[in-house]
Amino acid sequence: MNIRQLPEVLINQIAAGEVVERPASVVKELVENALDAGAQRIDIDLEEGGVRLIRIRDDGGGIAPEQLPLAVSRHATSKIASIDDLESVATLGFRGEALPSVASVSRFRLVSRARDAQHGAELRIDGGSLGEVVPQAHPQGTTVEVRDLFYNVPARRKFLRAERTELAHIEDWLRTLALARPDVELRVTHNGKPSRRWKGEGDLLSELRLHEALGEDFARNVLRVDHSAAGMRLHGWIAQPAYNRASTDQQYLYVNGRSVRDRNVAHAVRQAYSDVLFHGRHPAYVLFLELDPRGVDVNVHPAKHEVRFRESRLVHEFVYRALHQALAETRAGNGQTVSG
Ligand code: ADP
Ligand code: MG
Repeated sequence: MNIRQLPEVLINQIAAGEVVERPASVVKELVENALDAGAQRIDIDLEEGGVRLIRIRDDGGGIAPEQLPLAVSRHATSKIASIDDLESVATLGFRGEALPSVASVSRFRLVSRARDAQHGAELRIDGGSLGEVVPQAHPQGTTVEVRDLFYNVPARRKFLRAERTELAHIEDWLRTLALARPDVELRVTHNGKPSRRWKGEGDLLSELRLHEALGEDFARNVLRVDHSAAGMRLHGWIAQPAYNRASTDQQYLYVNGRSVRDRNVAHAVRQAYSDVLFHGRHPAYVLFLELDPRGVDVNVHPAKHEVRFRESRLVHEFVYRALHQALAETRAGNGQTVSG
């Protein structure tokens, strides 16, 4: 038996297996980076469902030329420096894995100009092999270009679906994001044509954006929720029981701003609706749960789709109460009728 150290590129490609499932996961990682950099406007250009090209340009803080090679190195991050930072992490990223992973399975280009810098710079990586940092004109902010995803990993490429399917996954994820960040403008093009635009609208999720994201029926049948107790806050929108779904497709949960799936919370919501929904029907909601970051572990999965609550029973109880109360108030309320 011969044990050997794997080369860096292969290590990154293996890590990419966890983080980069399809074009939508690349878009997620890159847009999260743009948001962490303070972007107010993000342009997303896609070709062939993102398989041929994903180009994301932001107007955030940018990266200094000498830092570009670090940005694409594994476990290099500007977001945490210690285990304490990890426990109270407020950024979407912190693992320092996305860029090297994506770069190892695509033809990759990173161009950036840092705030107050005179010049921009560019770094290209082809299938993980690093080029030189060269000067390149760029407005303040960053552009990341990812071409030919998985071109060097045929086993992965095989799992990519039709252009329309991949595009739909990207759009699903952008909708999830647009609900959480109404302050940011997002412009999407596909194959050179404008395909979607989310205008920046200020800090609060507006009925307009809800309407755009989830449709008119949802927007017409929502109840506002805003409940605080025990150091937690749950706010957002839940649908009146009369508006319900055959699946869980309109359930959006954000924990400290991060979109997650959580069975515990989903269960609490279901329970709150249990008296008012028929069996087999599902509620629709957009809910933001905020609590002390030290009470949530976000480092559960590389793609960060899940979190772990330190006091999950307390969270369950809190969510149940908040929603039960909101639903009870409408039933006791003004006898308002809804359709949907
Ligand atoms: P992480 O987001 O976990 O830190 P990434 O691999 O996604 O890891 O990014 C590595 C680093 O590169 C980030 O910590 C950040 O400093 C920098 N970076 C990446 N994308 C951007 C961007 N769009 N704008 C500014 N800096 C960026
Ligand atoms: Mg990141």
